[in-house]
Amino acid sequence: MSYNISEIVSNFCIEGNVAAIIPYGAGHINDTFHLKNTNPGLPGYLLQRINHHVFENVPALMKNVQLVTDHLKGKLTGIPGSSPDKEVLTIVSAKDKQCFFCDETGNYWRMYCFLKDTKSYDMVLTEQQAYEGGKAFGKFQLLLSDLDSGLLYETIPGFHNITMRLDRLNKAVLADPKNRIKDVLTELSFIIERADQMATIMNLGKEGKLPLRIIHNDTKFNNILLDMNDHEQCVIDLDTVMPGYVAYDFGDAIRTIINTAPEDEKDVTKIELNIPLFKAYVAGYFEYAGSFLSDTEVKSLSMGVLLIPYMQGVRFLTDYIEGDIYYKIHSTEHNLQRARAQFELLSKLEKNYDVLDQIVHNTAKKYIQITTEIK
Ligand code: ADP
Ligand code: MG
Ligand code: MG
Repeated sequence: MSYNISEIVSNFCIEGNVAAIIPYGAGHINDTFHLKNTNPGLPGYLLQRINHHVFENVPALMKNVQLVTDHLKGKLTGIPGSSPDKEVLTIVSAKDKQCFFCDETGNYWRMYCFLKDTKSYDMVLTEQQAYEGGKAFGKFQLLLSDLDSGLLYETIPGFHNITMRLDRLNKAVLADPKNRIKDVLTELSFIIERADQMATIMNLGKEGKLPLRIIHNDTKFNNILLDMNDHEQCVIDLDTVMPGYVAYDFGDAIRTIINTAPEDEKDVTKIELNIPLFKAYVAGYFEYAGSFLSDTEVKSLSMGVLLIPYMQGVRFLTDYIEGDIYYKIHSTEHNLQRARAQFELLSKLEKNYDVLDQIVHNTAKKYIQITTEIK
């Protein structure tokens, strides 16, 4: 779809004039444009059309982003050597003072200051990058740990609610609209065998043993901007920032970092664990998270590492059964292939659970008085 971007831009309070509009980034959810300034001394901007099919209440979403970025900036202002403008997204207001603009066709737009001299990577390649990734998300959670998670609106209700995800799978199985159940019986028993165990984090939360905190909920590596020396600079893509358990962010980051193969690898024998990258991420994460995580939260992290690939596999399989409604596919069995790859990853993670858990435990011990053994 094409838009009159200059017309959209005229509704925002920008400094200077736009010299060029460049489609930008590798994001899959929003449409992103880099706006270059005619005056190189003035900042550039990043304009995004927010996907209102995925996010149904954009004004509430932007209120979350405003709240979180204000809080982060406030916290960093008190830390010597910090640069809040570089380390936190800055929202550019619309001319009506709102933090978004809604055009006459019902599309929502927002603008951020463009963070120059930064890069984002789709995949973690080095231990240094994994370490920086861990630091970025650990710091993000730490700085938000004193903000009341109840103030945030749930931009996608039940996003990491495994019971809801399994209910949806169950409904799809009962309906079997594409007559595909016969092909996925092995995957379904794999899911059923683990269903109770995978509710552990949610149950601990319900029992009041895990605090609901503000988490990112989309801790892909390309949602961190690194500076030109590959040091973490800014956590971006705040659309899914919502209340949740820290293990979700941890497991989500590890799901891709630790996998030696792509998410949709057809040849599952290529799926192995990259333990050094895991270790590096954990080291970076605890540098910040070590100061606020509770004993039980530390213990929940390795469970999160199992849960998130499980949940992602459930989602891919549900979509396959429903007839490929949600995820874009490139072949008939793409979603099934994706689900199988997640379950293979999960099997490997289960086999190596003790090794991974020990790495978390040993790193945590440097920061936290662990009262009981992690098991
Ligand atoms: P999506 O939800 O579609 O992934 P993102 O908010 O992650 O959208 O933005 C897409 C890409 O745009 C990012 O991966 C990053 O490369 C780039 N980007 C986002 N915000 C900024 C910014 N403020 N400055 C520079 N680049 C940015
Ligand atoms: Mg993104
Ligand atoms: Mg996003």
